[in-house]
Amino acid sequence: MARKKQFKAESKRLLDLMINSIYTHKEIFLRELISNASDAIDKLYYLSLTENRQDVDRDAFEIHLDVDREARTLTIRDNGLGMNKEELEENLGTIAKSGSLAFKQKLEEGEQSDVDIIGQFGVGFYSAFMVAQKVVVTSRKYGEEEAYRWESNASDGYTIEPCEKEGWGSEITLYLKDNTEEENYDEFLAQYEIERLIRKYSDYIRYPIRMEVEEQKRVEEEHADENAEPKYETIIETKTLNSMVPLWKRNKNDITAEEYNSFYKDKFMDFTDPQKVIHFSVEGNVSFTALLFIPGKAPMNYYSQDYKKGLQLYSRGVFIMDKAEDLIPEHFRFVKGLVDSQDLSLNISREMLQHDRQLKVIANRIEKKIKSELLLMLRNEREEYEKFWNNFGLQIKFGVYNDYGMHKDLLQDLLLFYSSHEKKLVTLDEYVARMPEDQKYIYFVSGADVDKIDRMPMVQSVKAKEYEILYLTDNVDEFALQALGNYKEKQFKNISQGDLDLASEEEKKEVEQTAEANKDLLEDIKEALKDKVQDVKISTRLVDDPVCMSSDEGMSFEMEKVLSAMPE
Ligand code: ADP
Ligand code: MG
Repeated sequence: MARKKQFKAESKRLLDLMINSIYTHKEIFLRELISNASDAIDKLYYLSLTENRQDVDRDAFEIHLDVDREARTLTIRDNGLGMNKEELEENLGTIAKSGSLAFKQKLEEGEQSDVDIIGQFGVGFYSAFMVAQKVVVTSRKYGEEEAYRWESNASDGYTIEPCEKEGWGSEITLYLKDNTEEENYDEFLAQYEIERLIRKYSDYIRYPIRMEVEEQKRVEEEHADENAEPKYETIIETKTLNSMVPLWKRNKNDITAEEYNSFYKDKFMDFTDPQKVIHFSVEGNVSFTALLFIPGKAPMNYYSQDYKKGLQLYSRGVFIMDKAEDLIPEHFRFVKGLVDSQDLSLNISREMLQHDRQLKVIANRIEKKIKSELLLMLRNEREEYEKFWNNFGLQIKFGVYNDYGMHKDLLQDLLLFYSSHEKKLVTLDEYVARMPEDQKYIYFVSGADVDKIDRMPMVQSVKAKEYEILYLTDNVDEFALQALGNYKEKQFKNISQGDLDLASEEEKKEVEQTAEANKDLLEDIKEALKDKVQDVKISTRLVDDPVCMSSDEGMSFEMEKVLSAMPE
């Protein structure tokens, strides 16, 4: 009897969490196991190419499904790289440990080009326990003689023992849970259901996914009576369930939103549907197809160092590289997706890519396309755009400010700011279109939030003139406006700074007189606040409030605050 080992303590808890909460649909277990099988074949494929292994027949790669309705088991079999004893232990005994990720990292350290591997989370395998009470993995690693059998019922650990297995690869057998009143697990044994799931989630997997299926075939009888009922017989044949055509190579009009969504989630490891899909082809000097996604939510690590931008790169459907950074500009780094071009050479290396002119052309077209799609969204689906803005607006604002404002012309029409106009988000274009003729500047002011700004004393005086004010609430906002300098020849003006020049000649005269009459009072206040203020003035800035603070031209309060908060 093999000795039973305990899952590492945290693993047990994680496993529970995983099984019960990460996935909302039980059915995705099949997608996860098939992705793993496909990854394992990719690994062997890669090995056979780079090390020229003659014993690997690349045309024989396949993923096979076996259904046993009596025993209520479903088996997913692959002839990929397989796992040895240590790897079974490492990869399946430690939750959230991804062998695929380690494999990829090893390749990256070696400066070799990446392999297209779907797995990275190290949790997909355990989704099997959403439908199975027991999982048995039999695996033999390529190039090794011994095979091992890993077995677990999730709740009390796993066992590993030697076993017999012909050929390399892995075989995962799920012993389905008992049916309950709410849940009928037998559906995962039904041929039509399996076919449906493969079409839905795994259609584009590049290796054939095969299964023995029952087909009704009409029996052609000799000398049959023309009026007789046609006869059928049931035959068993092996059927390939997936089309193996990469999604991006298919006609846009034939692809459903669901196919795009599950492709995105599977390939780019997200649990949320993408907000926007951009699928387009370009013919010309450089021809390519791009399939891009704007995520529905900013990834957890988006604003950290861990986040790596880039698009997957394919040449004629053959995977070259996972994160080609140069394909996507910094200001659109949230975009995920892939590019497939027949004009790139297959053995292109990272170094060469950087200097590749064709790649620059592609990157340029992609940048333009993303911008135009965002503008369309802004014009036609305002709510959607504001959702996008909530997720990634900060990135666009940084984009305006970064690189000495080099990209400001490209990005300025994508900007949104809150404004005194209904306290809603507005574009600069909308602001300028509403400007009364006598308004010279685009006014703005910074503050903690829209409501606080709206109550500021100086806001009242500008509002009294019926001028609109941009309410800046992010640290970067003021820097972005400074980088822009002006918009449609209108300069930006901070209403808490310097002379606003809003008063009429009469008002100015009145202020002068009041100042003259109260000269002593002003002097006294100035004396009292000696170290705290530069000057004390009678102002035309105020409407209902008795006093307000303002700063000189140059750096504003807000910018000073941001800069002094920055690390040296
Ligand atoms: P991920 O796929 O995100 O890495 P999984 O939980 O799906 O995480 O799988 C864990 C690890 O187990 C994989 O990274 C891989 O190393 C290994 N593995 C799973 N299925 C197979 C398989 N069919 N063949 C070889 N290795 C596998
Ligand atoms: Mg996986």
